[in-house]
Amino acid sequence: MIIIVHGGAGKIPEEDLEDRKSVLTEAATQGLEKDDPLKAVEKAVRILENDPLFNAGYGGSLQLDGKARLDAAIMRSDLSAGGVINVEGIKNPITLANGVRRKTPHVLLQGEGALELARNLDLEMADETRSPKARKKWEDLMNDLSGLSYLEKLEKLAESKEGHDTVGAVALEGEVLAAGTSTGGVSTQMKGRVGDSPIIGSGLYCNEHGAVSTTGIGEAIIKVNLARELVYRIEGGLNVQEAAETAISRLDRSTGSRAGLIVLDSKGEVGTAYNTRDMQYVVKEDSGLA
Ligand code: ASP
Repeated sequence: MIIIVHGGAGKIPEEDLEDRKSVLTEAATQGLEKDDPLKAVEKAVRILENDPLFNAGYGGSLQLDGKARLDAAIMRSDLSAGGVINVEGIKNPITLANGVRRKTPHVLLQGEGALELARNLDLEMADETRSPKARKKWEDLMNDLSGLSYLEKLEKLAESKEGHDTVGAVALEGEVLAAGTSTGGVSTQMKGRVGDSPIIGSGLYCNEHGAVSTTGIGEAIIKVNLARELVYRIEGGLNVQEAAETAISRLDRSTGSRAGLIVLDSKGEVGTAYNTRDMQYVVKEDSGLA
């Protein structure tokens, strides 16, 4: 098995660098202990969702009304896929996304319908899904926006520099690839906003040629279908690292936006690329791979 995990491509505070790296390493290590790539991806992402240092699960950014509505998706190389959008009160959105994949005839479920599935699968719910840090950021934003009307707030949001982050993992064992991505979204987001992370082809993609998880400003990533774009390039014969770099430059050229990604191909070749300042990732491989 080989696995890559990432913790997003947002700016990482200097003081968090080391701690984040060790959680990423733990996530990759525990993922590697699983016997199949889909389970490995789910396990690694769950660990990152449970850690407040990352913008996913418990550490996820809040929407403008102060609620955490989370997005996640998971996909395997046989094209089976599941994702959840704007889910509240669930501890591990990636596991609910996998529930959509395993148990429903659909690919994406959102809001209350997704939660109904979670309850029926006995998934772990959480009374508080907002970390103290996420709440503090939201309170600061509320102070900046106080006294403004709804439409004035939107204008201010459009001008603000968005903070963002996400977590993701890709894995390969034998001929099977898997990819997963989970996020709280961007730091200044309207109620109900959906980014790229749960969208198949944008925030992640996986077929028999490659597995990709992306991160960055979702509004740009969606417009270029970044994850699918990258796998097309692998299918066209580019090597994985070249394909990764080309996909990021294409996003840059077309949208002027910033993103990062991790990718594995069917031979276990690793690619990573980003045009942001930071992107932490960890690659781990066990001796089982030829
Ligand atoms: N792509 C995520 C979103 O737009 C944020 C990120 O990856 O940093 O929701």
